[in-house]
Amino acid sequence: MEPLIHIRTKKDIPEEYIDTPVGLFLEYHNLGRKFEEHKMAELLIGMCMDSRIVLNIPNNFTYVLRTGGANMRDLEFNISYAVAVGGIKYIIVLGHTNCAMINLMSKKDDYIKGLVDNGGWEKYLAEEHFYQSEPVYEIKNEIDFVLKETMRLRLKYRKVTVVPMIYRVKTNHIYLIEE
Ligand SMILES: [Zn+2]
Repeated sequence: MEPLIHIRTKKDIPEEYIDTPVGLFLEYHNLGRKFEEHKMAELLIGMCMDSRIVLNIPNNFTYVLRTGGANMRDLEFNISYAVAVGGIKYIIVLGHTNCAMINLMSKKDDYIKGLVDNGGWEKYLAEEHFYQSEPVYEIKNEIDFVLKETMRLRLKYRKVTVVPMIYRVKTNHIYLIEE
């Protein structure tokens, strides 16, 4: 069984996140809480660039970094900026079901051909680019990857609370990952 906690009422939100930006995020997105005015972002969400994912949140509530698979390995400067200058104390790593960053090898030929046809790349450079990037961006399993990314960020930003979540594309609902 998937280790996911469905947030259907405020009671489903774990005590430690109530009245924090993390709890508020779950209330806004899943529970339709009325939008409040926010003076500044107190949260950073790292999520996939997939166009099916749309967050239901008010202006100025959170920083959002989007990349394939919510993989934030190359975005350290941006994360550090949100922590250092923005003063955020919470990060959510938001993976999702049905992510295209799973099994990238099966898309190798399309990737290389597409980069040549649509991007105007030389074929050998497109191949090199794919083989260099594939190990970095392949996530294999969305839940495992989000947990790994969460652990990595916890070690790097020890005073920041990092919380793993999954967005289910079919329902547009967000789930906490039970650790
Ligand atoms: Zn994705």
